[in-house]
Amino acid sequence: MPLQTDESQTPLLDVQGLKKHFPVKGALGGIKGHVKAVNNVSFQLYEGETFGLVGESGCGKSTTGRMILRLIEPTDGSAFYKNQDIFRLTGKDLHNMRKELQMVFQDPYSSLNPRKRIGSILEEPLAIHSMGNKKERTEIVMDILHKVGMRVDHYYRYPHELSGGQRQRIGLARALVVNPKILIADEPVSALDVSIQSQIINLLRELQNEMKLTYLFIAHDISVVRHISDRIGVMYLGGLVEEAPTDSLFENPLHPYTKALLAAVPLPNPRVKRERIVLKGELPSPLSPPSGCVFHTRCPFVMDICKTEVPVKKEVLKRHIVACHLH
Ligand code: SF4
Repeated sequence: MPLQTDESQTPLLDVQGLKKHFPVKGALGGIKGHVKAVNNVSFQLYEGETFGLVGESGCGKSTTGRMILRLIEPTDGSAFYKNQDIFRLTGKDLHNMRKELQMVFQDPYSSLNPRKRIGSILEEPLAIHSMGNKKERTEIVMDILHKVGMRVDHYYRYPHELSGGQRQRIGLARALVVNPKILIADEPVSALDVSIQSQIINLLRELQNEMKLTYLFIAHDISVVRHISDRIGVMYLGGLVEEAPTDSLFENPLHPYTKALLAAVPLPNPRVKRERIVLKGELPSPLSPPSGCVFHTRCPFVMDICKTEVPVKKEVLKRHIVACHLH
């Protein structure tokens, strides 16, 4: 059941004009250009919702998530959380923010220290944030192991003794052990078998209710994003091209790129026909993105105006925003 977010309320996280332009060096060491990995992305996260970010690999969705956590420094923009711009935080304030915003990665194995037992891996974030004494930390870890569906004896195991699904549960436990408010999940199920994917998605939903969490869920597979998201933002070549409540996006996709993404998703009712849009060409290089609408080199509906003028975002349906000259 989609969460009805009240958008008159103050967003929990307000991202505005986010940019990341990576400099590219030429043969003589000078800067010959910039890769515009994220270019002017704005969105809001409301308390208790899941906002899905979807798009092809290389569209900037992971870079967006990492910038919010300051794992990558932005080129420009702001991200307000509790009346503070995350990008201006330093020292203790930045340390405290990192407790409240946590990240889950695609491959937890590479981020779990193979020489440490699971118990020690999970107690580490508690120690970093000075939460509890040794005995209390052990109790908190046992509790979170239970919450993510692991057994008490997993406390004494090493990461290599666990399956892929169990390791992702530990990745989740490590993010949640400090009781964050926002979880940024970057392709958290992409490396897992389909049957395990649905277990992890269901677990994320249960934990969201139980721990009152807000999610930014990043994935390239729009059918996975659909299963968990209340709202979805579609990214293309560093920018958000469409943003809508999940049902509205699937029933009435407005941007030709969203329509192309949805064309690959099977419909539950085979009698229902959907407009099929097949994209031509490859994703252009973010080093020299096309002028005007960055999608114009692949769009079957391209018009002259698309080649010169950047389309502005418009709310075409209720809470359904698109950036396209067709609307
Ligand atoms: Fe296609 Fe033009 Fe819309 Fe871009 S603005 S998606 S090129 S119709």
